[in-house]
Amino acid sequence: MRLITHNMLQCPVKGCSKDNFPLRIEDAEIENADADFNPQFLKRMLDRIAWGALVQTSFSLGVAKLPESPGDPNDDEFLQTLHHVLLETRVKEGRMVCNGCGHVYPIREGIPNMLLQENEV
Ligand SMILES: [Zn+2]
Repeated sequence: MRLITHNMLQCPVKGCSKDNFPLRIEDAEIENADADFNPQFLKRMLDRIAWGALVQTSFSLGVAKLPESPGDPNDDEFLQTLHHVLLETRVKEGRMVCNGCGHVYPIREGIPNMLLQENEV
């Protein structure tokens, strides 16, 4: 699971509306995968990313350090760091936990399992 995906996931449990984003990642096994660097894509994503959540998540995983607020989109070094965090850092194994309701979403082989029990939908 790439961190760009994680940045768009919130807890889907019915009635869970407080502290349901970002999901906390625990016991993560991280892997790096090379991805093509696309500055235009990254600049477009800057408006859509929940920046605080991305900074918090990358810090908790111990990956590249991002600035507290988004950097200059024309700064190549900043874009390279963002590229690495968003697209090249992947959670292979571990779990995501909702800070609101405590629901646990396992991550296996890089795929988050967001399925819920029938009474949670
Ligand atoms: Zn929840």
